[in-house]
Amino acid sequence: MTDDATPIDLEKIVSLCKRRGFIFQSSEVYGGLSSTYDYGPLGVELKRNVKDAWWRKFVWGRDDMVGLDSAIIMHPDVWRASGHLDSFTDPLVDCRDCRKRWREDQLDEPRCPDCGGLLTDSRNFNLMFRTYMGPVEEEASTVYLRPETAQGIFVNFNNVLNTTRRKLPFGVAQIGKAFRNEITTGNFIFRTREFEIMEIEYFVKPGDDDECHRVWVEECLDWYRELGISPERLRVRAHEGSELAHYSKATHDIEYRFPWGWGEIQGIANRTDYDLSAHGSASGESLSWFDDDAGQRVVPFVVEPSAGVDRALMTFLVDAYAEEEAPTTSGRTERRVLLRLHPSLAPVKVAVLPLSRNQRLEPLARSVFESVRRSSGRNGVVQYDSAQSIGRRYRRQDEIGTPICVTVDFDSLDDNAVTIRERDSMAQTRVAIDALPGELAGRLAG
Ligand SMILES: [Zn+2]
Repeated sequence: MTDDATPIDLEKIVSLCKRRGFIFQSSEVYGGLSSTYDYGPLGVELKRNVKDAWWRKFVWGRDDMVGLDSAIIMHPDVWRASGHLDSFTDPLVDCRDCRKRWREDQLDEPRCPDCGGLLTDSRNFNLMFRTYMGPVEEEASTVYLRPETAQGIFVNFNNVLNTTRRKLPFGVAQIGKAFRNEITTGNFIFRTREFEIMEIEYFVKPGDDDECHRVWVEECLDWYRELGISPERLRVRAHEGSELAHYSKATHDIEYRFPWGWGEIQGIANRTDYDLSAHGSASGESLSWFDDDAGQRVVPFVVEPSAGVDRALMTFLVDAYAEEEAPTTSGRTERRVLLRLHPSLAPVKVAVLPLSRNQRLEPLARSVFESVRRSSGRNGVVQYDSAQSIGRRYRRQDEIGTPICVTVDFDSLDDNAVTIRERDSMAQTRVAIDALPGELAGRLAG
């Protein structure tokens, strides 16, 4: 098991991701595009499971939440009113010698860290990606790729309120792509320019916002803990005044201890009534709620838990990664790599493995596979694998985090039973084929 004394090497995760088909460098055949990644056959399942787990807890699991899926490209006035056109910037300096760009706030001295050259004066660099809508490339047709999904929720506040007849407090959840033209990227999928976020805008009465903010920090921490993240590698850090975004009254980050140190995986911000007020006055349409009890209209305050899908996925991978000595069938030991992923996140739920490629086993193994796929397939992928030795197939499934292997052997032909092997303990249990669906359902519920 990997403990805190021996932090794992990020390169091991990157290599496993590529080798097993979780994550590939984007546009690899053309040499790759910097800090851009594609999710492979296993990665797309893991990513989908992360988003589903989040949606299940925060939307389906509550009666005060609804979902939304707004457009990536929005009216440019949205970004003018939200403050992003003016304030969503990093201070940028260029090296006069090697032309390299740096974030001024990340430099220790006024010289280029690479070549020691003199730097230009700093200027504000807007992090929003800009493009043109329609056939004419001119200022009037400039649009932006959203840097967050939140604004799509704010400008739909009245639409959601009118169609769902909600009362405060209630929240709107959204999962989707966002884009930030970061000057510095890195640490694999931790900081990329195109990423996916899971955001909630939770609307409360002014005055209830501080308590609501506190509760949401706990709710969000619970999500990571419930999905198996080591509690000792999680911490909450409050932003200093100088770190706060232009809209925020208070922000708490949930951080995880990655191989390179603590990194933010989620922010919970108190955005006050900043956004609804700004869009209300800029659009001329009041974004507010009528409080029947108090007999007056209020502009709600907003608490925003915002998490990166890619960062969450990376956190689950890093936290699940383990190496240990395991016994082989021949009585020796060998090093095995495994992902101790929570069953609800594992990309492959069950692997059905005939003990060997012997033709007598094939029909029964196939029929067990079909039956498992019918019963467990709605939870995720069920795989059939008969290539190579049984030991190597177990290792392969361990390495991709498959919680359960079902092995069909020669005894199965007589006793109509199979062996269930559990990933983490490697414990093996004999189970009647008839009882398999119920047994698997219980174990996969995690
Ligand atoms: Zn330089």
